[in-house]
Amino acid sequence: MLKKFFYENPNLDNRIQRVTRVSDVNTSYYDSNDQKISNQKRTEFLRTIIANVKRKKTNLSNFETIILKNILHEPLMLTQYTDNSMRGACIPGSYKLSVDVDGAFHMCEKINPNYSIGSVYDGIDEDAQLDVMSNFFKEINKKCKNCNIKNLCNICYVSAETEKESFNISLEYCQKMREGVLSSLSEYYSLLESNPDLFMDLRR
Ligand code: SF4
Repeated sequence: MLKKFFYENPNLDNRIQRVTRVSDVNTSYYDSNDQKISNQKRTEFLRTIIANVKRKKTNLSNFETIILKNILHEPLMLTQYTDNSMRGACIPGSYKLSVDVDGAFHMCEKINPNYSIGSVYDGIDEDAQLDVMSNFFKEINKKCKNCNIKNLCNICYVSAETEKESFNISLEYCQKMREGVLSSLSEYYSLLESNPDLFMDLRR
């Protein structure tokens, strides 16, 4: 259905075009949906878009442009190669603020309720902000020190969330990140071979 929607509305506002997975933490979504099949479908969908782009080369729709930027260009070309120490993390509450029905503040709409950073009644809780960052970066320092793709990795709080207040970077996450980087590099060069100017166009 999503596929149909995006193909029927190729020039939607680019701020609302994302293809993300449902997190497997704090949800019953995968009780009735096979996670492996959902991931396979997403991969197939992205491959179809890339194959289309290879064929037509010009006149990319907004949707195709955003997808290529999100999955290939920005992760590979716009990271700071010398010091990607924040990975994909933000300063909680500074970039976005999500408010739930009880008035609690959360750093974004995707994170589970265990990491609240204040409320509409008391304002932003700076200690909670600091705790979130300190717990997350403790885990980053422990697990990522010797990783050879750390400057391309965009892990953030949501990808390491748990059912408590701590963070955990799973082996499975890192494995997927590695596979993703390899496949992005492969697609990136294959697209460059078919259309050397494509990524210059995407930068504009
Ligand atoms: S792949 Fe894993 S170990 Fe490597 S930087 Fe990302 S989260 Fe850290």
